[in-house]
Amino acid sequence: MNAPDAPNLLDPLEPIAAAAPAARRSRQAVVRWGDRVVTVGGDAPVRVQSMTNTDTVQVIETAIQVKELAQAGSELVRITVNTPEAAAAVPHIREQLDRMGVDVPLVGDFHYNGHRLLTEFPAMAAALSKYRINPGNVGKGDKRDRQFAMMVEAAARHDKAVRIGVNWGSLDQELLAQLMDENARRARPADAKQVMYQALVQSALGSAAYARELGLDPNQIIISCKVSGVQDLISVYRALAARCDYALHLGLTEAGMATKGTVASATALGVLLQEGIGDTIRVSLTPQPGEARTQEVVVALEILQSLGLRTFNPSVTACPGCGRTTSTTFQELAKQIDDFLRAQMPVWKSRYPGVENLKVAVMGCIVNGPGESKHADIGISLPGTGEAPAAPVFIDGEKALTLRGEGIATEFHKIVENYIERRFGAAAGAASAAATQVSASIATASH
Ligand code: SF4
Repeated sequence: MNAPDAPNLLDPLEPIAAAAPAARRSRQAVVRWGDRVVTVGGDAPVRVQSMTNTDTVQVIETAIQVKELAQAGSELVRITVNTPEAAAAVPHIREQLDRMGVDVPLVGDFHYNGHRLLTEFPAMAAALSKYRINPGNVGKGDKRDRQFAMMVEAAARHDKAVRIGVNWGSLDQELLAQLMDENARRARPADAKQVMYQALVQSALGSAAYARELGLDPNQIIISCKVSGVQDLISVYRALAARCDYALHLGLTEAGMATKGTVASATALGVLLQEGIGDTIRVSLTPQPGEARTQEVVVALEILQSLGLRTFNPSVTACPGCGRTTSTTFQELAKQIDDFLRAQMPVWKSRYPGVENLKVAVMGCIVNGPGESKHADIGISLPGTGEAPAAPVFIDGEKALTLRGEGIATEFHKIVENYIERRFGAAAGAASAAATQVSASIATASH
């Protein structure tokens, strides 16, 4: 018997390449509202979007939820436009958002009657910045193309971007049946799942080709093919990315609740984004009773930040805790610091440019505490069981001081605030001084 081939191992001294998301260059869609322009695809950062779960007819309630989602970090917010009453409410939602100073673009989600609504409610068609069209829900038989065309023509007339959003829960059944028949006639038929993948991709790309024939700018087409299984999503999006250069909207549909939905979304999106696939993401979480709708935005931001694709908030590194630290002090401190930093971000973003890059470590004992704290901008190593009741604080990699006694949490809080003021406040001061200097030299030059 032959010995198995030896694995082809690298020399341990071979330099180790750093992992980084690949780049897939896609077309760039431009989603506009007033002065606000959100580009999707091309060289734009991966965008975060979300969707309201209010009744669109309820103007104030919907506008408030849009505002909350936008403040949480959603760069586009979708609302359902399902009835004439909802269509009539859309311009009022837009006006209300404008009054509140919320300039996030609104996306209209259409099914079944979008062709009629977009034709009969031009003010709604104009108030939206982008339309989502589901090719599986635009009509059957010969009505399908006509009704799809009415929606695309409305988009072209109003200069709007369009997402052709296929969903396996509402996949075009005529197309699926046709592909199943063709598959059955093959000498070696593919399995049903592969035919379903093909139907999803073909529905999206066939509809995009038809939209282009109707005159829609290809740059203004964004594609999605949503499924609820992680491996299915990866398979379908790899196929899409290899077959087109449209910007891709990425997300698991019906991801589920809480931990399950969060983990499934992070797993699927993590794999694809690392391969450069995905220009805008939505995490479709089912909120738990009482849970804020904004949780789906929080998860989306975390996915992008974890991959190093974008930076939104300061990061707090905390150890999981173990038998070496029976106290919960470090858990509480880590949570307090995390909550505090997030709560301040809406104000700090403009006051302290670059503060989102801050790294804080809160560690439970001496084993990894000092080491991890040194890697952070500012870190604290709390005393584990049996250790001296002292908490060394590290600033910019150097041990700066040691905290003791009951007030460790409050003192550390203060140290973090001072650090932010000193480091990022100085940057803001320098930026504003530079701006003043530039204006002064412009003023001098113009005299
Ligand atoms: S740092 Fe200490 S307390 Fe935290 S997990 Fe490691 S050994 Fe346990």
